Amino acid sequence: MFSTVLKLKLHWQILIALVLAVLAGIFAGKTAGIAGITFYEIFSFFGALFMNALKMIIIPLIVSSIIVGVAGIGGGEGLARMGGRTLLYYATTSFFAILLGLFFVNVLTPGIIDGQPAQLVLGLDVEQGKIAAAKVAERGVGDIAGVFLDMVPSNVVAAAANGQLLGLIFFAILFGYFITRIQEAYAEAQYNFWQGILEVMMKITDVVMKFAPIGVFALVAKVIAGMDPNEILSLASTLGWFFLSVVLALATHVLVVLPLLLKFVAKVSAKRHFQAMFPALLTAFSTASSSATLPMTMECVEKNAGVSNKTTSFVLPLGATVNMDGTALYECVAAMFIAQAYGLELSFTVQFTVVLVALLTSIGVAGIPAASLVAITIILGVIGLPVEALGLILAVDRILDMFRTSVNVFSDSCGAVIIGRLEGEENILQEEKAL
Ligand code: ASP
Repeated sequence: MFSTVLKLKLHWQILIALVLAVLAGIFAGKTAGIAGITFYEIFSFFGALFMNALKMIIIPLIVSSIIVGVAGIGGGEGLARMGGRTLLYYATTSFFAILLGLFFVNVLTPGIIDGQPAQLVLGLDVEQGKIAAAKVAERGVGDIAGVFLDMVPSNVVAAAANGQLLGLIFFAILFGYFITRIQEAYAEAQYNFWQGILEVMMKITDVVMKFAPIGVFALVAKVIAGMDPNEILSLASTLGWFFLSVVLALATHVLVVLPLLLKFVAKVSAKRHFQAMFPALLTAFSTASSSATLPMTMECVEKNAGVSNKTTSFVLPLGATVNMDGTALYECVAAMFIAQAYGLELSFTVQFTVVLVALLTSIGVAGIPAASLVAITIILGVIGLPVEALGLILAVDRILDMFRTSVNVFSDSCGAVIIGRLEGEENILQEEKAL
């Protein structure tokens, strides 16, 4: 039986692991155990091991792939064209995602329960007066500048050590570009050196990917085991609409907007792309980290979808940190929900500000679990709500994080396909490629 499972394609293995994880998590809860160790601790251990293995790959993978990608694109013109298209795709899709969020949160008004702001129903003890006083918030536009300041790291080694990927990416782009500007003998040596590192990192990724079913099982079982059924029931009645607004908006983005772009801009089958990306999407779902998923995303886009190494190397590492459609959408819905719950009427201008700040902060948000929360505090500061209001959504954040991270990863992968096609690649998602 076990050997039959091992013969299945990786995405089936991961899917089975996911289903088993839900059952195991429900069965184990937080207290059941064996030989004095709770199952919860066992899940945590193996989950952390898998996350560590993924994270271990990230820095050398990102640096080598961007350097190889940028150097491979060649001179400034090719880089400017691909960079321009990539940024345009990122900005457009994130903007669409936010608008979808805005639409659903305005239509479903999750922050209003039985005609009352949810704050009253939930019995939160922050009065309107305090909200007005909080208008002069300490968090605000300055924080957004901070997000962009990290883009140029003062110490590139420290940026790598602290996981400041944006800074690292900036440095790697510069490095890759200037490889094309030095003497040929050195340029060739440099290119081969980084290409070698990239190949080694992809091989290591192959191995880690084989453990994905175990990792996904452990991570998801831990989340489910950590939940309290009574809490879930009470959350369902108060935060159910909020949950639904986020999930519906995310689903519309992933099932309608992005497939339309794949169909009409890239002229490829969205269904085949979903199949190609399945392992990465499930990993994103269980790790709630688009950075940790990056090695798998790159494998799936290159090996399953057939996008060239040149495009993948450039578009994906950048996308994992900069392009976060799910996150941007979530930030907008969460901020609007909290505003509704506090009985704040948001004018068109304020809503527009929310959209803009969500777009900007989503660029700087790290691809790690719960990273949106920091960005949401910034938005709350800008619209004059107290930061404690964030407490409203914490209970459902982890689960929604799993959904939005999968959307982040899927959008990055669509970006790679679309840009690859615009660059004239013919082999992307062709029928004969066995998935
Ligand atoms: N967890 C998300 C990611 O890694 C970021 C977030 O929205 O919290 O993509």
